[in-house]
Amino acid sequence: MIPATLLLQRLPERCSNFVLLTFDDGPTPGVTELAMDKLEQYNTSALFFMVGKFVEKHPELAKSVVERGHQIGNHSFNHAPATNNISREIDMCQQTIAAATGTVCKYYRHPEGSINPSSLLLPRMKNLQSVYWSCDPLDWDCKTEADGVEAAHRLLDNVIPGDIILLHDFASPTLALLDIVLPELADRNLLPPSGGLL
Ligand SMILES: [Zn+2]
Repeated sequence: MIPATLLLQRLPERCSNFVLLTFDDGPTPGVTELAMDKLEQYNTSALFFMVGKFVEKHPELAKSVVERGHQIGNHSFNHAPATNNISREIDMCQQTIAAATGTVCKYYRHPEGSINPSSLLLPRMKNLQSVYWSCDPLDWDCKTEADGVEAAHRLLDNVIPGDIILLHDFASPTLALLDIVLPELADRNLLPPSGGLL
């Protein structure tokens, strides 16, 4: 059992009535904006774990995520799994996000969820809270809108209060998923109000 200070796997008690939507691997023009539009229709916000090299490519898009009231987390510069370069990967991503958005990230997500003892300790030493997930509908594997709909039902069948939900803002099937998932999560009173949960 890994302590939550090293790896947050579910929401802490104080916000465990809600779920946290997280979006990894962006920002992606044409997807990230639309995901935000959909979230904002329900007056909710999310945590976007961005890859540094994509922030460098699309700094304005990264900045708009912050301006629209969402939170940004560090997902390394090159989406590098737990290797010996991870310290540099984290620092480069942190600097790129700060330059683009004026924000210092407080959260880190391990690329591909790959974890070893040093990759667990490093974010903590850099004042970053590592955030894992407890609900994974496998949207990253969706190729079509129909796949996205299927993933939406996987999510809704499994989600419980306090879950941290793993999603990705790199392809359009996730947008089809959101169209189904957001109204249902709103009905279940699981969507947090805008402004960030953690
Ligand atoms: Zn990722």
